[in-house]
Amino acid sequence: MFTLNHKLPGKRFSMRTLITNGHIVTAIADYEGDILIDGEKVAAVSVPGAFASLQVDTVLDAQGKYIFPGAIDVHTHMELPLPATVASDDFETGTIAAACGGTTTIIDFANQQRGHTLADALQTWHNKADGKAVIDYGFHITITDLAAAPETAMDDMVTAGVTTFKLLMAYPGTFMVDDETIYRVLRRSAKIGGLVMVHAENGIVIDLLVREAVAAGHTAPGFHALTRPAILEGEAAQRAITLAAFADAALYIVHVSCAHALHTVAAARVKGLPVWGETCPQYLYLNDSHYASPGFESAKFVCTPPMRSIADNEALWLGLQRRELQVVSTDHAPFHFAGQKELGLHDFTKIPNGLPGVEHRVVLLYEGVRT
Ligand SMILES: [Zn+2]
Repeated sequence: MFTLNHKLPGKRFSMRTLITNGHIVTAIADYEGDILIDGEKVAAVSVPGAFASLQVDTVLDAQGKYIFPGAIDVHTHMELPLPATVASDDFETGTIAAACGGTTTIIDFANQQRGHTLADALQTWHNKADGKAVIDYGFHITITDLAAAPETAMDDMVTAGVTTFKLLMAYPGTFMVDDETIYRVLRRSAKIGGLVMVHAENGIVIDLLVREAVAAGHTAPGFHALTRPAILEGEAAQRAITLAAFADAALYIVHVSCAHALHTVAAARVKGLPVWGETCPQYLYLNDSHYASPGFESAKFVCTPPMRSIADNEALWLGLQRRELQVVSTDHAPFHFAGQKELGLHDFTKIPNGLPGVEHRVVLLYEGVRT
C-alpha cells in the first residue's frame, strides 16, 4: 500500500471524487483500496475506509471491479487522409471511444506530405487534434521525403517534443522510402537520441504482386492478403534491423503480424540490439480465413499487414508471453463499410486499409491473458 501524496490540499477549489471498495491494479501490485481524486489528479491511494472522514463531492462504489491506470495506445490514425477518403474517426469521436475503453492517452502519426516540411506535418496534425481530443495525445512524425526536409529537420522535431520517427517500407509512390532514406534517418536518430519506427513490408515486390493480380482479374478483397505474404514482412523487418545495427540506432517495428517478423525481432534482442516490437489485437485474434468470406464482406478485414494464419496468432501470443514483443497498440484507422470500404468494390487496391480498435484493446488483452 502506498500514498501518492500525503499532503492533501487544505483549500480546495476543484471537485473531489472518492472511489471506494475497488481492486486496484498497478504495474507492480494489486490490492483492495480507495482512491481520492482532486480535480483531475489522483491525490492519494490508501486502505479501504482511509478517506471516510473527508468531505468529497462524489463517491463511486467500485465493489467487485478492477481499477487500472489509464492505458496508452501508441499507434492510432485519427482523421487519417488517404487518396480517396479520410478515416471515419476524428480526434473527438476517436478519443471518446478510447476513453470508453480505458485508454487515456494516444500517440497518433503526423504524416509528412511529399514536398512539405516536418513542421508543416506537425502543425497540420495539431490543428486536427487541438480542442477536439478529450484525452491526452502526442505525435510521432512520419518521414516520406528527405529532399523536402533533410534529416537535420528531425532535430527541430525533438525540440518540439517529438522523438519518434516513422518510416514505411511499403506503399511505393506515396509513403514508401528507400534504403538510403531509412539509413539516413536511422543515423540521425542515433545522434539525437530518437527512436525510428518502421512499417516493415517489402513494398516493391508487393507492388509487383498486386499489379499482376489485378492484370489477371483477381480483384476480390481476399487478394489484398494474398499479395502481401508474411515472408515479405519478415524480409523488411530483418532489413530494417540490419540497417539499424549498422547505424547504431534504436528501432521499433510497428504492427508485427507474423512469426517471420517476430523471429527477426526476437533474434535481434537476443543479440542485445535496441530493437522493440509491437503487435495489435487483430493479429492476435483474427486470421486469414476472414478473407474467404463470400462477396465483398471480407473487405471489412482489409488492413495492412493483413490477417495471417492461426499459427501466426499463436506465435504472437507466445512472443508477448516471452517478452519478445513489448507493446500492443491498435493501428486504429476505421472506415465505414458503406461508402468507404465500398470504394474498392471492384478493385481490392481501392479499399481503404484499416480497422478500428482503440475502444476494445484493453478488454481484448484482459480477456486474452485471463483465459
Ligand atoms: Zn499505422
